[in-house]
Amino acid sequence: MHDPESSAAPASAEAPASSPSARSRAVALRATLGSAAAFGGLALAYPQAGAASLAAFAALMVVVHWPRARRRTALRGAGPEAPRLWPDQGMKTVIDALGEPVFLVDRDFMLRYRNASALEAFGNMALGDPVSLRLRSPELIAAMELCQRSGEAGEVVLDERRPTDRTWLVTIAPVRAPRGERPRFFLLKFRDRTAETRVERMRTDFVANASHELRTPLASLSGFIETLQGPARDDEVARERFLAIMREQASRMSRLIDDLLSLSRIEMKRHLPDTARADLVRVFDKVADQMRPLAEEHGVSLEYERPERPLRIVGDEDELLQVFANLVENACKYGADGKRIVLKLEAVGGRQVSSVEAGVQDFGPGIAPEHVPRLTERFYRVDVGSSRAMRGTGLGLSIVRNILLRHRSRLVVRSTLGIGSTFSARFPLVRDDMAANGEREGKTKA
Ligand code: ADP
Repeated sequence: MHDPESSAAPASAEAPASSPSARSRAVALRATLGSAAAFGGLALAYPQAGAASLAAFAALMVVVHWPRARRRTALRGAGPEAPRLWPDQGMKTVIDALGEPVFLVDRDFMLRYRNASALEAFGNMALGDPVSLRLRSPELIAAMELCQRSGEAGEVVLDERRPTDRTWLVTIAPVRAPRGERPRFFLLKFRDRTAETRVERMRTDFVANASHELRTPLASLSGFIETLQGPARDDEVARERFLAIMREQASRMSRLIDDLLSLSRIEMKRHLPDTARADLVRVFDKVADQMRPLAEEHGVSLEYERPERPLRIVGDEDELLQVFANLVENACKYGADGKRIVLKLEAVGGRQVSSVEAGVQDFGPGIAPEHVPRLTERFYRVDVGSSRAMRGTGLGLSIVRNILLRHRSRLVVRSTLGIGSTFSARFPLVRDDMAANGEREGKTKA
């Protein structure tokens, strides 16, 4: 293992004849002999100046030999009492106690110790290897160099792309050395900021998307207003046509604002679990009644096999109504070619019925697999043109997802191109209904 400091002592102790230390020894020897001869000669020639010559010789010897003697002492000191190059047990114990990944590096940024979290986060990096071997970030290296020069702690953001996208906030701090010496070790502490960064990015994307969605109809409205005030001022036919388009654009803006408000209301209470009870059979009855006219408008039949008993879950009836009405609306808008929509409500769990699966199935064109995981993203649309033509905002499934999260459930999408799609969610039944439905299952099977 490379040990930069320890290599210094033996190299200078066994310096070859041509080395600077050998040369300085020869110079000192020549100076000693030369000045001894000169001062000796002077003392012999002028015995009355003997004491002064001796004093001058002594002073010269001090000047010539003092620095070498000091260097020798320093080299001797580097032997048994050389600065320790490895972190001591105390340091290791403290680093182990920290929950976040921590590295301890030396002045040359060689890894000298790391805790278990660091091992888990960055894999098994060999002690003694440069940290830059694994963390190839010029910003991190620059921050470490700055910390080394200034002796002050610093922070840097480290973005990792592989093996997964992760963002770390790295704090680099010198470990204070005794007696005002330069720090020998530096601590690299990593705080995982991946989730925070993702949320920040989502928020900025959301604002950008929302403004863009609102700006489009707004631009169209302004354009028509200008035309009506200018070239089409006296054109009655054009005015009627333009006013119809303007009304459609204004209602698009208002739908968008309604959906945005709805989404923000639901997101605000997403973490507040509901305590109310809702009967999914009642919810589905209402959805069927409410959505039948839209289904007819699209030439689609709405099929619903109504369970006999209530299926009660913990949840808010209005929010659940919003979920399934939204799914039926989408099935009408995008799956009308299949001519059928089936509302499905099934108790699941065999004899021990414990939950209920509620879904909406259509027999439309289906959705390509690469789009399925992204459907619940805000403003995500498989085909923007067809969504706009269907008066979509791209927020419907995002609202659905958030309501389901609040109900401790999640949206499951099964879709096959050319066959159709099923959007469903599973909810735990409340206890008394579990018993009732279990009984019923038992009877039918008997
Ligand atoms: P939109 O307001 O555009 O309908 P949604 O969030 O409700 O927004 O849906 C997102 C996208 O998912 C739609 O634009 C559409 O492309 C696709 N989609 C949703 N439901 C279906 C479905 N039943 N069949 C095919 N595609 C669908």
